Amino acid sequence: MHELSLAERVIGIVEGAARKAGARRVTRIALAIGALAHVEAETLQYCCEVVSRGTLAEGARIEVERTPGRAWCETCQAEVELEQVGMPCTTCGGFRLKVTDGDQMRVVDVVIEPGAPA
Ligand SMILES: [Zn+2]
Repeated sequence: MHELSLAERVIGIVEGAARKAGARRVTRIALAIGALAHVEAETLQYCCEVVSRGTLAEGARIEVERTPGRAWCETCQAEVELEQVGMPCTTCGGFRLKVTDGDQMRVVDVVIEPGAPA
């Protein structure tokens, strides 16, 4: 289950950013998962909740957004949208596609509750 290791990375990034900002806690985390990333959104969300226990991100609202996959079609010489790896080009039906986007997961936004002023 690689969602768990992804979740550990996400919470690590989020907690690092929150600490740097002097946050008391993290209230919201927004993630974007590319359509081609082979990541189950609900599983990732659940794993983030589990991994965040005892960290600044505990109890944060975790939102997951799907971003479309994109690929370069060598036949059309154009960038086209790709729903799944192995699908043909939506324009010409060809299979000479190179994935250009949508195969990754990103932390898009982190909302924190600031700590009390010193
Ligand atoms: Zn094409």
